[in-house]
Amino acid sequence: ALDPQSPAGAGLAGEEALEEEEEEPEPEPGPENSEDSEKAAPGYGLGGGAGGTGGGGRGCVLTRRGITLRVLLKDALIEPGSGVLSIYYLGKKFIGDLLPDGKITWQETGQVFNSPSAWATYCKKLVNPAKKSGCGWASVKYKGQKLDQYKATWLKRHQPNAPSAAEEAGPPGKRPENKGRVPVRYCTLGSRDLARNPHTLVEVTSFTAINKFQPFNVSVSSNVLLLLDFHSHLTRSEVVGYLGGRWDTNSQLLTVLRAFPCRSRLGDADTAAAIEEEICQSLFLRGLSLVGWYHSHPCSPALPSLQDIDAQMDYQLKLQGSGNSFQPCLALVCAPYYSGNQGPESKISPFWVMPPPEQRPNDYGIPMEVEMTYVQDGFLTNDILHEMMLLVDFYKGAPDVVKFQDLWNQEQTYLDKLKVSLASRTPKDQGLCHVLEQVYCLLKNSS
Ligand SMILES: [Zn+2]
Repeated sequence: ALDPQSPAGAGLAGEEALEEEEEEPEPEPGPENSEDSEKAAPGYGLGGGAGGTGGGGRGCVLTRRGITLRVLLKDALIEPGSGVLSIYYLGKKFIGDLLPDGKITWQETGQVFNSPSAWATYCKKLVNPAKKSGCGWASVKYKGQKLDQYKATWLKRHQPNAPSAAEEAGPPGKRPENKGRVPVRYCTLGSRDLARNPHTLVEVTSFTAINKFQPFNVSVSSNVLLLLDFHSHLTRSEVVGYLGGRWDTNSQLLTVLRAFPCRSRLGDADTAAAIEEEICQSLFLRGLSLVGWYHSHPCSPALPSLQDIDAQMDYQLKLQGSGNSFQPCLALVCAPYYSGNQGPESKISPFWVMPPPEQRPNDYGIPMEVEMTYVQDGFLTNDILHEMMLLVDFYKGAPDVVKFQDLWNQEQTYLDKLKVSLASRTPKDQGLCHVLEQVYCLLKNSS
């Protein structure tokens, strides 16, 4: 059920939820009782249990692997110092000291903040009381460079699937390789084994192969695939987003109408919470429900990993709710740069997880291949174009951004490759498609 105070109230609630999630006392706690924000937290968000422990899956949780300033300090990516942190907002400048324990002192008042987002939110509100959140990591700079770039560097070092620095520096035209993620068949997995690499990819099983019908039908709009394919192309790191649409119980049809990219970094809990709150509001304002999620496997096959299977199982249970009404949850995996793809087009694969047989409760869920009907949209909307621009801006200057003017193969640049991939997902009416050219221009200039 939706909260009565939304949509306007939802922003407020989300903001409190954000502060609550950080589990950090604010220097000047607001007068509101934060207990209320738990209830007001959007129950239709995948990260639904906002203030919770965030154990397990992804989504809200996905981005919550807790990279903090302390982590960056520990790994010597940044150093404590006086006046090394800054925020520029609406013409006002704020300067902060980075303390050895990862906290921040705002020079002007000497107040201490526990995280960049706490500080950014506080400062921005002074200038603009309507500001909902600080988007800390993107708006705080360390020695003149955005903090989220340091975070991206950290992730690059620590993410198992991120392309290596050597590869980045390699000659142009060298395609990112599949890093030996050879998919396994489900039947070879057996019971859960903690020693197994959670990134192991698993082949999907078709319903016909096990003599079953797909329990629901799916139709997906071209604009959904266009946007998520675009998002997945922008960076060599994994991206994630949500899917909005409708579920019709009579026809058992799940209609996927809109992709909602998370403009946040894997591991950036601060930004993720704010972005997810924004997405929840976007869904609400468009009268859509959350019907699934997507993520990318930049250089490996579009097959779910063990970790993806568990996350999906988790989401299916969350979306299903407590009532007896069934609502499915769809997962899409997009592989833009997997060398096994045929041609420049990304592979986008839907999957759904069937629980293991009752007599084998310790097995993994079974990743099932889902058949979708592709529906070509009538036209491209400004809404989608705007989202594309925001994405370009978000990844601009990041160390893992794809350089679209570089060669992807002998003849084609990454931009050529992207265009071909998106061409198969454009709407019938090409009216607004010339605007895509402007987006491509932006891409060339910003990478
Ligand atoms: Zn995955």
